Amino acid sequence: MIGFACDVWAGLFTILGAMRVTLRHLFSHAVTVQYPTVRRTLPLRSLNRHVLTVDLGSGKLKCTACDACAKVCPTRCIAIVGAGKGKERHPVEFVIDHNLCMYCNLCVEACPFDAITMWTGNFEIGAFNRLGLVFDQTALHAEGFYPTPDTPALVAAPAQQPVAAGQPGAQDAATP
Ligand code: SF4
Ligand code: SF4
Repeated sequence: MIGFACDVWAGLFTILGAMRVTLRHLFSHAVTVQYPTVRRTLPLRSLNRHVLTVDLGSGKLKCTACDACAKVCPTRCIAIVGAGKGKERHPVEFVIDHNLCMYCNLCVEACPFDAITMWTGNFEIGAFNRLGLVFDQTALHAEGFYPTPDTPALVAAPAQQPVAAGQPGAQDAATP
């Protein structure tokens, strides 16, 4: 009889201990969000899908098709075809295969012209087949300002800089 009472008490004690943990988390702030209805603002330097940046003055791609990013890429997932010479050189084809990309950011660091960035906030690149993860120059072309390793200050001071509405640079402007 005494043993039975001890077992019951031990069971109750265990349940109360578990309930204490449950109650503690019941009234604490939730760490999850209802994605995709609610979206967290990503850190500025989070690495996402590439974008080829544009010169804010001319609106043209900064890329000169120098091939440095393709050569440094450890997975060989960048293919570039350039045209023109000297200051007129530009890419006519620029393809990144995200089936192979490992998000190392080496291509961005190697670029001497700040022409490519992964600070784009665009992480939703799921596809139904592998071809859907191959991005050509049209897909990689930026329509507005995207922050780069050389331009985080433009995000920190959006009032003086042309950060396009709806771009990740504008989204992150409040929390650089
Ligand atoms: S992030 Fe790395 S793996 Fe991906 S394209 Fe750039 S260099 Fe290649
Ligand atoms: S993105 Fe940069 S490194 Fe790559 S080809 Fe263009 S200018 Fe060269």
